[in-house]
Amino acid sequence: KTESDDFVIDDDLILKIFKPRADFTHKGTYGKSIIVGGSYGKIGAAVLAIKSALKTGSGLTFVLAPNCGYEILQTSAPEAMFIEGGVKNIDTIDEQENAVYGIGPGLGTEKETEKTLLKFLENHKSPLILDADALNMISKNEDHLKLIPKKSIITPHPKEFERLFGKTENSFKRLKVAKTKAKQFGFYIVLKDHHTQVVNPEGKVFYNITGNSGLAKGGSGDILTGIITSLLAQKYSSEDAAILGVWLHGKAADLAAEKHSKEAMQPTDVIDEIGNVFLDLN
Ligand code: AMP
Ligand code: MG
Repeated sequence: KTESDDFVIDDDLILKIFKPRADFTHKGTYGKSIIVGGSYGKIGAAVLAIKSALKTGSGLTFVLAPNCGYEILQTSAPEAMFIEGGVKNIDTIDEQENAVYGIGPGLGTEKETEKTLLKFLENHKSPLILDADALNMISKNEDHLKLIPKKSIITPHPKEFERLFGKTENSFKRLKVAKTKAKQFGFYIVLKDHHTQVVNPEGKVFYNITGNSGLAKGGSGDILTGIITSLLAQKYSSEDAAILGVWLHGKAADLAAEKHSKEAMQPTDVIDEIGNVFLDLN
């Protein structure tokens, strides 16, 4: 294998991928993002994900969360629609074109949740995003990985990666494992780290160089899940959604750090900077 299988996500690549919003369009043009997450004490994770989906241009945004999250979610993001019952009612949304699921932020790993998730995956054929607790439940059994639809995007941080695919000695070996698994299962792996790596099902690697250690705080990953879900719903390919998603996330974080410092910046500050990233792109 040659080194040409490794790419840096640079401005040229982003400008090739990014599609400016067209005039003669309507909300249906920009897809449906469906975030499945939140549990008692972790509703905030779902809030961060839907806000990020909204901020990156999702046409319609839904959140499936337990009823204890109803007022919190409707108040903090009135633009998003709440579907009661959480993961239990995951099938109540018609499987329609352009509807993309982002599952996992703050979801919890209860047995009942796990059963519902696995059954949903068995019947679901279009690409989706799996993160956090969704990955933690899947990692309990190798066979579960086979249920993930082709061209889906999984977004593990190093610990979640280890739960999914086992311990590796160093980051080089970890990347090697990621390439093997992405090929074997036909999905994209977004290996979240200081320089996040997007590994495609052919084993190509795209390195992200935006972002900073101000992101090393609870909630940062939930934003990324919302962003990538929204981009996939807007008909970016899985590869483009993952690449543009990690770049946008990091770029917004860099603007937040300039304004607030790496120490003080919060994930919500990152969401607030997403608009400025788009202003620069357009
Ligand atoms: P999570 O652990 O799921 O909240 O995800 C953390 C997010 O923040 C990922 O997108 C990471 O790439 C990013 N992140 C965490 N720590 C750093 C760091 N030191 N430098 C750059 N990005 C980071
Ligand atoms: Mg996370």
